[in-house]
Amino acid sequence: MSAPLLELAGVHAGYGPFKAVVDVDLTVPAGGAVALLGPNGAGKTTVARVVSGLVRPTAGTVAFDGEVISGLPAHEIARRGVAHAPEGRSVFATLSVEENLALPLRQAHGTARAAELTDQAYAMFPRLGERRAQLAGSLSGGEQRQLSLARVLVDPPRLLVVDELSLGLAPVIIGEVYQRLAEIRRLGTALLLVEQYVEHALGIAESIVVLRAGEVAYAGAPLPTDELSQLFLAAG
Ligand code: ATP
Repeated sequence: MSAPLLELAGVHAGYGPFKAVVDVDLTVPAGGAVALLGPNGAGKTTVARVVSGLVRPTAGTVAFDGEVISGLPAHEIARRGVAHAPEGRSVFATLSVEENLALPLRQAHGTARAAELTDQAYAMFPRLGERRAQLAGSLSGGEQRQLSLARVLVDPPRLLVVDELSLGLAPVIIGEVYQRLAEIRRLGTALLLVEQYVEHALGIAESIVVLRAGEVAYAGAPLPTDELSQLFLAAG
């Protein structure tokens, strides 16, 4: 088997004295899709933040592509090909929707390609097209989530960490975003899907990790939803 793209080993993390995540092991194979599941407050978002460098682990390591990345600044982790979306405040509030999309794309791909990719983003999220001249800070929460997702979906990273995709998005948009996730996965992007609502994530992930009170309660092949509910309920 090939080396994993992402490997967390014995990761502990928290906020001040509070331990949110305890001894977590998790791997995502290159091009694979793993769902990180668990009830409210189980530590899923904290794990996502540890991966993208927003929270520093207090113990354990995170390796990406065979190199330890825990301890590196978030922008360096992003440069290596890890994107985390939608992470709160990840849009530039004082720039327009168009600028939010086009500026980073231009830097990475030049003006012509950036314009094509921006159009793709509007095709995927028509609401953003209608609001292209509006300041991102004045968008609704759901629209900001669309903007933050659009940026990574049209310019896929090597590993995409998607945190609570379903939250605040209309069901029809959730379905479309999941279709696009399946597409970018076929193009080689690995996925770590953090979800409290499991249905969609289970449709795409080939393995799952269930967190319970910060610890791994299960890791392996997807479970039927009734067994998952049992695991969630056992969380108390
Ligand atoms: P949810 O689905 O509710 O977001 P989660 O599984 O993603 O839950 P986390 O957000 O990682 O869980 O939170 C794990 C624990 O850490 C919770 O008890 C939460 O209250 C706590 N926590 C999260 N962020 C902070 C923070 N910035 N400061 C202090 N405690 C925090």
